[in-house]
Amino acid sequence: MSIAEAPKTESKPELKIVEDATCTFCGCVCDDITLSVDQEAKRIVKAQSACVLGKSWFFNHHIEERPEATIEGKPVSYDEAMDKAAEILLNSKMQVTYGLSDTTCEAQRVAVAITDWIGGTVDTTTSVCHGPSGMAFQGVGEVTCSLGEIKNRADFVMYWGANPAESHPRHFTKYSLMPKGEFVPRGRKDRTAVLVDVRKTKTAKAVDIFLQLKPKSDFELLWSLRLLAKGIDPDPSVEEKTGISIETLKELMEKMKQAKFGAILFGMGLTMTRGKHINTEAVLSLARDMNRHTRFVAKAMRGHGNVSGADNVVSWTTGYPFGVHLGRGYPRFNPGEFTTTDLLARGEADAAMIIASDPMSNFAQAARDHFVTIPTIVLDPKLSDTAKVATVAFTTSTYGINVPGTVYRMDDVPIPLRPAFESPFKSDYEILKGIESRVRKQQLAAS
Ligand code: SF4
Repeated sequence: MSIAEAPKTESKPELKIVEDATCTFCGCVCDDITLSVDQEAKRIVKAQSACVLGKSWFFNHHIEERPEATIEGKPVSYDEAMDKAAEILLNSKMQVTYGLSDTTCEAQRVAVAITDWIGGTVDTTTSVCHGPSGMAFQGVGEVTCSLGEIKNRADFVMYWGANPAESHPRHFTKYSLMPKGEFVPRGRKDRTAVLVDVRKTKTAKAVDIFLQLKPKSDFELLWSLRLLAKGIDPDPSVEEKTGISIETLKELMEKMKQAKFGAILFGMGLTMTRGKHINTEAVLSLARDMNRHTRFVAKAMRGHGNVSGADNVVSWTTGYPFGVHLGRGYPRFNPGEFTTTDLLARGEADAAMIIASDPMSNFAQAARDHFVTIPTIVLDPKLSDTAKVATVAFTTSTYGINVPGTVYRMDDVPIPLRPAFESPFKSDYEILKGIESRVRKQQLAAS
C-alpha cells in the first residue's frame, strides 16, 4: 500500500461520515476534511480534500495491539503506570517535560501544570525547530495577521527558507498563492510570488522570482533589504557574500514597496541556519520596516500539527514559549540552558516526561546517551524509539483521530478537533490528569 492509499476492506462496510474533520499532520491544520470511517475495522477509508500527507496521516492510523502501559517493558494497568510516573516526578530534582507539539492544548495545559507543581522544566519541540523565532519574538515583536488575511489581501508573497510545495501542500491553494480573495479577486494572477532559498526546491517552480542565495548568508541579505527599505545602498561586498546583485535586490524592494499587502513566510531554512534567532529578528524587523511604505507581515511556517498550540499554552501559563525552568517558583526562560537537548547532553536532567515526541530518533548522541540512564515517562500512540526505552510507557489515543480538543493553526487561530472513531486507549489529557492528581495528593499529604 502506498503511503496515501486507502486501506482495502473485504466487504462493503457501513461508513460513518465525519464532516469538517481536522488534519493535524502539519501546521496548516486543514479543518475542511470529510472522512469516511469504517467503524467496525476502526479505519479511515476516505479523506476527501486532504493532501497526500494528510491522506497518509489518516489512512495509516490504526489501533495498535499494545498493552495500555508498561513499566520497564512489562505490561501494567494505567493506574499502576500513573502511580510509578508520579513517584518518578516527585523524586526528581531537575525534571524536564518535553514534546507537546502533537497533542491537544488541553493536554499541554496539564503537562505545564504538573511541571510547575514539581518545579521542573517545560520545553517543546519548538526548541529544535522554530526556537530561534520564539527568541526573536521576545526581542523585536511580530507584525502579524491570520492566514485568512493573507488569502484575502496579500498581493505579494515571499517564502524564505521554506518549501511549502512539499512540507505544507495545501498552503498554496488554501491561503497564500492560488485562492481568490476579497482584494485579490483573480487569485494567483493578482499575486507576485518570490522564493529565497539556498536550493531550488519544488516551491521554486510555483513562484515568479527565485533568488538562490549562498548558504549562511540570509542575515546579510535581509539586512541589505532593510537598508534598501530605508533608502540606503548596501555595501557592495554583499553581492559576493550572498551571490545576489544589489541591482536584483533593488528591483525586489521596488516590488515590495508597490505591493498593497505583503507577506513574508519563513521556515526552518532561515531559522536553523547560521545566525538562527538574529535571522528571525532580521526578517521580523524587515516586515516592520516595510510598514513605512505599505502593509507587510511576517509569519513562521510551522511544522507539527499543534506546535503553535504548545507555544501558546506554554506562553500563556509561564510567559515564555519553551525552555522554561519553574524550579525557583517563578519562570526562567533560557534557551541553551533549559532546553531539553542541552539539559540531557550536559547530564543535568534526572528525570524526563516526553509527550507525543520521539527525541531518541532525533536528538544528539550525548543527549540520547544520558536519556537512557535516567527514569523516563513517555506518552505516545506509537511504540517509538523513545517509548521503547522508557521506564514508564503509556499507549495513548491519537489527537484529532480519536480525541477531541483544541489545536492552534500556524497563525495562532484555535481550531476544534472532530474525532473519527473511539480508541480503547486513554488520551494524553486523561493520563496527565491522573498523574497530576497523584502528584498533588502526595504533595498535600507531605505538607
Ligand atoms: S496541508 Fe497539512 S493539514 Fe492540510 S491536509 Fe495536508 S498535511 Fe493535512
